[in-house]
Amino acid sequence: MKKHNFGAGPSILANEVIEKTAQAVLNFNGSGLSILEMSHRSKDFEAVIEETRQLFIEILNIPESYSVLFLGGGASLQFCMVPFNLMEKKAAYLNTGVWANKAQKEAKGFGEVVEVASSKDANYTFIPKDYVIPTDADYFHITTNNTIYGTELYTDIDSPITLVADMSSDIFSRPLDVSKYGMIYGGAQKNLAPAGLAFVIIKNDILGKVSRYIPTMLSYQTHIDNGSMFNTPPVLPIYSALETLRWMKANGGVVEMQKRNQAKAELLYNAIDNSKMFVGTAVKEDRSIMNVCFVMKPEYKEFEGDFLKFATAAGMDGIKGHRSVGGYRASIYNAMPIESVQALVDCMNEFEKQH
Ligand SMILES: *Cc1c(COP(=O)(O)O)cnc(C)c1O
Repeated sequence: MKKHNFGAGPSILANEVIEKTAQAVLNFNGSGLSILEMSHRSKDFEAVIEETRQLFIEILNIPESYSVLFLGGGASLQFCMVPFNLMEKKAAYLNTGVWANKAQKEAKGFGEVVEVASSKDANYTFIPKDYVIPTDADYFHITTNNTIYGTELYTDIDSPITLVADMSSDIFSRPLDVSKYGMIYGGAQKNLAPAGLAFVIIKNDILGKVSRYIPTMLSYQTHIDNGSMFNTPPVLPIYSALETLRWMKANGGVVEMQKRNQAKAELLYNAIDNSKMFVGTAVKEDRSIMNVCFVMKPEYKEFEGDFLKFATAAGMDGIKGHRSVGGYRASIYNAMPIESVQALVDCMNEFEKQH
């Protein structure tokens, strides 16, 4: 039976990306070698990483004054690399979820952290809008899509100081004005590639302003100077990322991705809003087009586990909500076809009919 992969991450990739990756594992570009056993300094791999970088620049329209880096350690290592490289005395953070909170916690080891606003008391069901960004802080950190809570900032906000964004779960889901950010980073395993890769888009001139010693591997400058090849980069995930970017470009880029994502989200949110049983957890104006979180209404709570079993039997995979929210979460990243979202909606309707 066909499975519909609604997992939050590592998550769905386009079929084509998985097939091309499998082919490269068996025999890369007809070279007679597997990409798994090739030198990262070979001409073949250098062409891969260069094209990946070029497609990042092209698809996201990244200005020339920025570098694009491919690093190990996931988004979580960035939580400490950001303050290590950018914070001299003080940094500002917007607390919109577990990941935002983890990022903020790391920064506290490097200096003063100002939490400008938090939606923690409301279990992160919304994104705070009324706050003041301290202009004497070294940067302002935001999380644009809160994967666990299903809230999202759809616009590129204005910040009077360097804006740093964790875009792990919404990068490439919409067009971006990169020039508004000093840095954008994320783990690649949500919308781009298999696990093991983090991407960093960084404005070159925000570096070199802190006085502390930065260990070589943790310094962005090292990776800029060495084209992400200071040490062995995550070769296979970079190759898959390249195939995802080629797929995205062939499918109309981020403008088309956004259109598709909005259509998928609308289909599912409409079903939730019109349901007698289900209800969304995030406030409407902030709800994510990547991760759709919903629960059973209190009067149907007893069926919570039953729906999970029913949906799983119908081929819906990965829809159990994060333990801190409960209920269900359908992640509908770029690679998810609208047919799979329709299948989930049909499944919800059928379950309602039966109960
Ligand atoms: C998944 C996720 C992370 C953690 O990513 P790792 O690569 O596992 O460290 C951080 N931030 C957000 C928004 C995420 O969705």
